[in-house]
Amino acid sequence: MATMTTNRNPETIAVTNGIASDTAFGAVTPPLYLSTNYTFDGFEGKRRFDYSRTDNPTRALLAETLAKLEGGAGAVVVSSGMAAIDLVLSQLGSDDTIIVPHDCYGGTRRLLAERDARGHLKALFVDQGDEAALDAAFAERPALILVESPSNPLMRIVDLAGISRRAKAVGAKMAVDSTFLSPALQQPIAHGADFVIHSTTKYLNGHSDVVGGAVIAKDAADVEALAAWANIVGTTGSPFDAHLTLRGVRTLFPRVERQQASAQVIAEFLAQHPAVAAVHYPGLPSHPGHALARAQQKGFGAMLSFELRGGAEAVRRVVEAVRIFNLAESLGGIESLVAHPPTMTHAAMTPEERRVAGIGEGLIRVSVGLEAATDLVADLDEALRTLG
Ligand SMILES: *Cc1c(COP(=O)(O)O)cnc(C)c1O
Repeated sequence: MATMTTNRNPETIAVTNGIASDTAFGAVTPPLYLSTNYTFDGFEGKRRFDYSRTDNPTRALLAETLAKLEGGAGAVVVSSGMAAIDLVLSQLGSDDTIIVPHDCYGGTRRLLAERDARGHLKALFVDQGDEAALDAAFAERPALILVESPSNPLMRIVDLAGISRRAKAVGAKMAVDSTFLSPALQQPIAHGADFVIHSTTKYLNGHSDVVGGAVIAKDAADVEALAAWANIVGTTGSPFDAHLTLRGVRTLFPRVERQQASAQVIAEFLAQHPAVAAVHYPGLPSHPGHALARAQQKGFGAMLSFELRGGAEAVRRVVEAVRIFNLAESLGGIESLVAHPPTMTHAAMTPEERRVAGIGEGLIRVSVGLEAATDLVADLDEALRTLG
């Protein structure tokens, strides 16, 4: 049934890729290959695998699955989301300029700033929703532009196709950190991206028990160059982590579907609450990126943030009153979390930098999990009552 296999839906690929492919025992679930090394089939008889830093059957199956889900030529699985971003940066030289979002993930900002300070590349931090700022940045003839959409923690949406047109006009490559949506909800390669970056720590693994990352590339030559560099520097991911992450990918679609349905309910509840000054969720028609998100995403995702009128003191009361939500960093797991960006994820920014980025002291970021939406709303409702 060749026609059926080539036209499989991504939901089906996530579940079936590599299932029942074991030739030794017919195992339904693909085996976990922990072995560091592989015998040669005689003198000069290198098999597909020889050493697990270079390549490993379990990690290769995860990479192949991610590449299929993103529509890329291949993928390289590494030890963290940061290693994935740095793997893309490895393709730049000291004279190359990279455009980075001014409101990017804090770890990404730190990595780019440190590599810039060491003379490894030139980083330009730019508001990618500002056309004039983009004009000025692209006039510098960048080699690469890194995009994050939706952004953290305000869920700003960046026009992927628009950025891609600008990048192509100057011969720049485009990388999209698509961690907040996963391939279930956004496929940047279809909008012109050359690289898709994931912190697989988040939705792809989805169970808050693996730190990992991946880069999916549109072109086979890029896949080869990235795989070669990951082998040279030794940042490839562990087989055990790949096994767990692939197990997470099996349920990616139903998890994300259910989580974003609950996020919509929670966002609508918060939007009408008198203690809440603003809700940042692309699924609300009032969100400035609503139409763009509708056009380039398959859903609005399960991340949102909201600003309390009472500032940091109100945040303290609410995060200490919630019982189902836990106060923790990270996101994308089965469990619902709240975080206070100014004192947690974005604490490394100065108060002035946060003010410019629009991150208020009363902001709470929410990662919506798989609990019943009614319980999550009731939990927030009770916690907000403590504000009087
Ligand atoms: C978490 C995260 C990263 C970093 O990933 P790690 O797996 O923690 O190294 C990068 N980008 C985004 C958008 C993230 O949320």
